[in-house]
Amino acid sequence: MNTPIRLLCTAALALAPGLALPQPPAAPLPPAAPASAASAPSHAHAHGADIRAARVRGLAEQMNRPPDELKQSCRFESDIATPPMAGTVALSFDDGPEPGATQAILALLDKHQVPAAFFLIGAKAERHPELAALIKAHPLALVGNHSWSHPNFHDIPVARQASELSRSDTTLAALEAPKLFRYPYGNASCESNAQLQQLGYRIVGWHVDSCDWAFDKTGSIDAHEAKICGVEKAHREHFVDHVVSAVKARHGGIVLMHEIHPNTLAQLDTLITRLRAEGFAFAPLTHPGFLTSLH
Ligand SMILES: [Zn+2]
Repeated sequence: MNTPIRLLCTAALALAPGLALPQPPAAPLPPAAPASAASAPSHAHAHGADIRAARVRGLAEQMNRPPDELKQSCRFESDIATPPMAGTVALSFDDGPEPGATQAILALLDKHQVPAAFFLIGAKAERHPELAALIKAHPLALVGNHSWSHPNFHDIPVARQASELSRSDTTLAALEAPKLFRYPYGNASCESNAQLQQLGYRIVGWHVDSCDWAFDKTGSIDAHEAKICGVEKAHREHFVDHVVSAVKARHGGIVLMHEIHPNTLAQLDTLITRLRAEGFAFAPLTHPGFLTSLH
């Protein structure tokens, strides 16, 4: 299935080497949203259903709305139309920190000496400060911001979007995290894009969606999900084959995965080994070669 090329909001920042972005003076924080950690995905199944619903709605919207209107709406920022640094992969893991999973991923980064970014949900980072600190202290890991409680920004009012961003920004600032933001479900708004720009953030999408949310515990995906995700029939039983094939098709790029899916953890060792055997190198998102992939 061909996913329509996403039209990007034009509010891109001038590129600066090493993400040394000028920091605007801190704006007064809007009132924080109520602590809604309970709305963060608590287990992989509910999370998969949420992503599926967001994906189906997004695809329908992109096919049904005129291109000009879509462009002006800034709603879809996360599929990257520009090519990545060729032959290079940047791994990224969303929705943590997750007890057990965070440590396991960090151990694999050590084993293979590959870097990765962890886009943390602010409320979970607050609940598991020891895990957030582990990621921060790891020389191969980067902390990114994945909102405060993981709402779909297409479904919440602008004021709540603002508090989601500012509250997670405040929490993660304690980790001295680089200003990298990934939208939950990839769903953006013009207002939030502007706020992120003001806070000094770059928006991080992905070249390759591993679709790990749709693969079950044994690493297979059903026909319907495969269609939504663009997983080839031959790869429906093989998560690693799907991701390697998708990375090869894009000649590398930012790969989206999640901390909360056991199959991702179970296959990560093999996935890294396979990507390396295919000749791919690994780099962190802050590598200058990935700057053109950030918004
Ligand atoms: Zn997420």
